[in-house]
Amino acid sequence: MFEFVKLGKNTYCYTMPTNVGFYVTDENEVYVIDTGVNEKSAKRILEVLEKHSWSIKAIILTHAHTDHAGGCKYLVEATGCTAYATSAERVFVEHPDLEPAVVYGAYPCRDFRGKFMNTPACKVSDIKELSLPVGFELIRLPGHFADMIGVKTPDDVYFLADAVISDKTLESCPMSYIFDLQSQYETLEEIKRYEGKLCVPSHAEPTWEIASLASFNKESLDKVNEIILSLLEKPVSVEDLVSELMNLWDLPETYMQYVMTSSGVRGHLVYLRHNSLVEYEVSKGRMYWKKV
Ligand SMILES: [Zn+2]
Repeated sequence: MFEFVKLGKNTYCYTMPTNVGFYVTDENEVYVIDTGVNEKSAKRILEVLEKHSWSIKAIILTHAHTDHAGGCKYLVEATGCTAYATSAERVFVEHPDLEPAVVYGAYPCRDFRGKFMNTPACKVSDIKELSLPVGFELIRLPGHFADMIGVKTPDDVYFLADAVISDKTLESCPMSYIFDLQSQYETLEEIKRYEGKLCVPSHAEPTWEIASLASFNKESLDKVNEIILSLLEKPVSVEDLVSELMNLWDLPETYMQYVMTSSGVRGHLVYLRHNSLVEYEVSKGRMYWKKV
């Protein structure tokens, strides 16, 4: 953790709880990929830039989650650089109440903000306005959040944001927050094509063997779908499903965990519904789901 690692001729990774990518141009200007969770992470990034006498050309935010965009405001204010993201993601960074509101389903309670739902609001430009070095590509990675992207640097290094989660994380709990499961399945299939390339997930070690991790992520989605289906032999409310799953995985009984699990369960139910595997009914003011 907290190592600055060279991954290619001009490509580096600052390994943090959220890995940060650096692509350095021949003019010593850096495209910074994500900014870490907060001001502390931003200061670490600045230290590296100062040490090498590099300046920021642009910040590319893969998506709006706080652990990727939390250091953005500090970096922008400290250096005067511009941050870029896709049109959907930039809205969430400019209006940080929206992310917890989407996950919770209403204006978020203060108790739900915490470290990971607290992006300092920051102006972000549309990534379409950013000029990129030759061989530098943006990769669409829909599923995890509104319109997440990854980056391929000219050194053939792939920064994959949160498109794949580490096996350790999935082993402790196979369900993570996913905005759109159908798109996530498609993204995972796509990522398998990068086998043999150097890939950098945001929360796992850089690897040349991304296909097995992508498969493990897919199997985890399948597993959660199977568990949910097994619980829906009779009509069950979302509330009861959340309770079953929190007990099954021995999850901490906190506001944050409850909301994240509840949101995750509803995401899986929508996927199952769109694939005609479950049906629902609203009865006496409760919504029940049942296997078809
Ligand atoms: Zn994320």
